[in-house]
Amino acid sequence: MRKELAVVCGAGGFIGGHLVARLLEAGRYRVRGVDVKPFGDWFQRFARCDNRVLDLRLKASCEEAVADAAIVYNLAADMGGMGFIERNKALCMLSVLVNTHLLVAARDAGVRRFFYASSACVYAADKQRATDNPGLREADAYPAMPEDGYGWEKLFSERMCRHFHEDFGLEVRVARFHNVYGPHGTYDGGREKAPAAICRKVHQAVRRRDPAIQIWGDGAQTRSFMFIDDCIEGIERLMASDVREPINLGSSEMVSVNELVSIVERIAGVTLQRRYDLSAPKGVRGRNSENTRIRQLLGWEPATRLADGMARTYRWIAGELDRASARAVA
Ligand code: NAD
Repeated sequence: MRKELAVVCGAGGFIGGHLVARLLEAGRYRVRGVDVKPFGDWFQRFARCDNRVLDLRLKASCEEAVADAAIVYNLAADMGGMGFIERNKALCMLSVLVNTHLLVAARDAGVRRFFYASSACVYAADKQRATDNPGLREADAYPAMPEDGYGWEKLFSERMCRHFHEDFGLEVRVARFHNVYGPHGTYDGGREKAPAAICRKVHQAVRRRDPAIQIWGDGAQTRSFMFIDDCIEGIERLMASDVREPINLGSSEMVSVNELVSIVERIAGVTLQRRYDLSAPKGVRGRNSENTRIRQLLGWEPATRLADGMARTYRWIAGELDRASARAVA
């Protein structure tokens, strides 16, 4: 019998690319990957995947994307790190078209299960004003005051998923990702997030024998960072579960940005001077994932140590930068 079809939207991106890899390796589904970027720009490309370049803001593209699908993962969004989302609020909010049209198309195509990638940016600003954040619980999203632009779109789209279940019976699964990092993601160009940006800056400082790096903010702001393998494992566990409420998918190993820099310095074997850019975008003061709910519901939580995940990420980014400069010289 022909295998069922899984569709990954945002397959040319960081998390989508890793998810396609995992689904192909597991072999349970045929896999279709969809992204708006030209195929040559996808972070990972797989010949065994049915790859389609489509703009999912358009309803007709969503209908083509989900045709014949049993399960759909929506990881497509116009997004980036703090520098991008603070300066592109309207663009971030336009991703509402992607999830809205995908939900309608999935309902009409009889899709069995739908995954939506939400974010820790849905959490209310007043719960994130101190660096010693005790961890954000799922209930902390309300009363709502999420990140302007990007966070409002995520919160709205989460609710849209919930109502598509209530009104139309579509099975939805929603994870609130907390900062995901790892190989095969963005590390320059303006959309990169702190872990990749710090790896790039440290490696460039080493290569150029530059004694200093620039850090956004005062470095005391705190976050937790989830390694990509944990993210993919969590998505698959959530998809296999009967959990319909949005849950945190993040690491609870909170560090300051200064501590993150120290981890990367140890990996690279250097100590650099730190120049703090206090006018740069810095986001909330403190954020961490509170994991009681995911432990209760899935009996699991992300556990890769930051130092281990960052060592793998640093090696990959350093390799990419070295290859790019070798090409520039040749
Ligand atoms: P990414 O930018 O690497 O991937 C997103 C992909 O979506 C890109 O390849 C982009 O081209 C594609 N896309 C954007 N608009 C599209 C459109 N109109 N039609 C088709 N494709 C479109 O980002 P990522 O880190 O892989 O994030 C995946 C999802 O997880 C996003 O929804 C993001 O908001 C969410 N998320 C990510 C993080 C993180 O730390 N990476 C944290 C919280 C939430």
